[in-house]
Amino acid sequence: MTTLIKNGTVITAADMYKADILVKNGMISEIGKEISKIASEIIDAADKWILPGAIDVHTHLDTQVDGMTTVDDFETGTAAAAAGGTTVVVDYAQQEPGTGLAQTLAAWLAKAQPRAVTDFGFHIALAEVNDSVLSEIPQMVDAGVTSFKISLEGVGERRIGDAAAVDFLQRVAAAGALPCVHAENGEVIDLLWRRLAAEGKSSAKYLPAARPPEVEAEAVARVIALADLARTPVYFTNLASAHAVEKVKIARDRGQSVYAETCPHYLILNSSRYEEADAVKYYTTPPLRPAWHQDILWKAMNSGDIQVIGSDHTAVNYAGQKDLGLDNCQQSPRGFAGVQERLAAINTAGIQAGRLTLHRMVDLLSTMPARLFGMFPRKGTLAVGSDADMVIYDPRTDHYLSKAMALSRVDYCAYEGMRAYGSPWLVIQRGRVIAREGKVMGRPGGGEFLIRARAGAA
Ligand SMILES: [Zn+2]
Repeated sequence: MTTLIKNGTVITAADMYKADILVKNGMISEIGKEISKIASEIIDAADKWILPGAIDVHTHLDTQVDGMTTVDDFETGTAAAAAGGTTVVVDYAQQEPGTGLAQTLAAWLAKAQPRAVTDFGFHIALAEVNDSVLSEIPQMVDAGVTSFKISLEGVGERRIGDAAAVDFLQRVAAAGALPCVHAENGEVIDLLWRRLAAEGKSSAKYLPAARPPEVEAEAVARVIALADLARTPVYFTNLASAHAVEKVKIARDRGQSVYAETCPHYLILNSSRYEEADAVKYYTTPPLRPAWHQDILWKAMNSGDIQVIGSDHTAVNYAGQKDLGLDNCQQSPRGFAGVQERLAAINTAGIQAGRLTLHRMVDLLSTMPARLFGMFPRKGTLAVGSDADMVIYDPRTDHYLSKAMALSRVDYCAYEGMRAYGSPWLVIQRGRVIAREGKVMGRPGGGEFLIRARAGAA
């Protein structure tokens, strides 16, 4: 099976040029001018961009969030991903207290393997840090799970303390994996919520007051100090504020291996949403920030201080899930959907608005996620020998982001009505078309589990 993609504009994190791409046995076998080999399929990509398949290293599929089940399983979640131009998701396998890591990985493989339309990998999000859990990490790394996460703000026992965080950083790094941290100060957030609740202020309107940027920046700075002490790299998930970016930048300027991810919603939506009647739709942690933070986030992406944009796709419905927290937002599951919208939204807010170059966009959505999470150069670029994972993007056909176009099962779209610049035309995974003009062509179970390489800081 060979496919010849003619006349496209190939765009990677480093280059842009017109070329033909020959795909053989699921891999890119040749890139060049006017390739004239015989192929079983020819695709004309004239006037279109050919980008490496986007990689989303932050999804929560078929899982429990704050005691509720997400409405997307691996079939609908990865179908939405594929339609939006994403060919790999790295999902958070969520350990439950008292459950081993091998058991957690087996559970996530059982959920994903029969259903995933795209290729997939897992991080494991730890619910607890103790000797039994830490001793399983090397075995997980051998199985291809090379990143682990803790949260400093988790509810109840999921909240990891400083000493446990140091143990976590050292044991994960020693095993050749990348430690990831959700950094907000949970104790201070509890205090602020208690004070607000005493005044009857528990709705999502008060999220900015309960989880201000300082509680994010404090936790980021603390973890940076702990990682420095532990002599390990650290990756911050979903960084949201200028205050936190400042801490990352100082550490990186000092030469410390600190990496950071942000999400489309922090770049596009802002805290004015919390003034709306259905504010709880936008309950996520950290919360959306005032719009001025966005300039700092875009600058940090251009300077390389933020390396990754992940969606934090958490599909929970408004009706019956989010709306349980209308009066008390902490009774709502946090997060919202975004795996399908990520590429088009960033192309619009970044490229169209002149805030990013195409190269930086590819780097943030594909190349750096592949490098940091052990998938490069098989994934994350367009090169001879790489998997033929690509998005053929039509920059001329605008569309509107909406619930109507979304393949997620979720009942609302956080970006409803946003005009998106261009559209994914064809999405190709290992040489097979898995989505065409927003419709899924790939089959459930067609995605492969990725055995990721040990972490090598990029
Ligand atoms: Zn998340």
